[in-house]
Amino acid sequence: MTKASSLPVWYQEGLSFKCTGCGRCCTGSPGAVWVTEPEIKEIATSLQLSTEDFQRKYVRLIGNRKALMEKKPKNGDYDCIFLEDNKCQIYTLRPKQCKTFPWWKENLSSKEDWDEAAKSCEGINHKDAPITSLEEIQSQVH
Ligand code: SF4
Ligand code: SF4
Repeated sequence: MTKASSLPVWYQEGLSFKCTGCGRCCTGSPGAVWVTEPEIKEIATSLQLSTEDFQRKYVRLIGNRKALMEKKPKNGDYDCIFLEDNKCQIYTLRPKQCKTFPWWKENLSSKEDWDEAAKSCEGINHKDAPITSLEEIQSQVH
């Protein structure tokens, strides 16, 4: 039996992406930015908070998983708690889920899924974007 992972992917030539910093992926419909325990500890330390205080202020439970809180909706948009003036306030320490966007399995499963993701992320297929190679994409897939 052939292993699925050995099949050629559709983006052998790489993909165009360049983050414009528009902040759109940090707002919009309600969602979940998952955070792991090590990420919680790291962000809390950088904010000089105990992990308990950090979680009280910024983390919510969804089922048995932890996610960052969202702000109260404004004009139907649910901003991440760390989004201010379209900028991430914890950019260098943002969770892996944010760091690896748009290289998510669901965005990469087909060209159609990639183009669909481009409808809400102006950096995908951006005309000035460099090509990210297959190898680099595969090192980041989340
Ligand atoms: S929506 Fe795309 S271009 Fe805009 S901040 Fe997010 S990743 Fe960057
Ligand atoms: S942690 Fe930062 S990058 Fe991630 S959703 Fe929140 S504001 Fe956006």
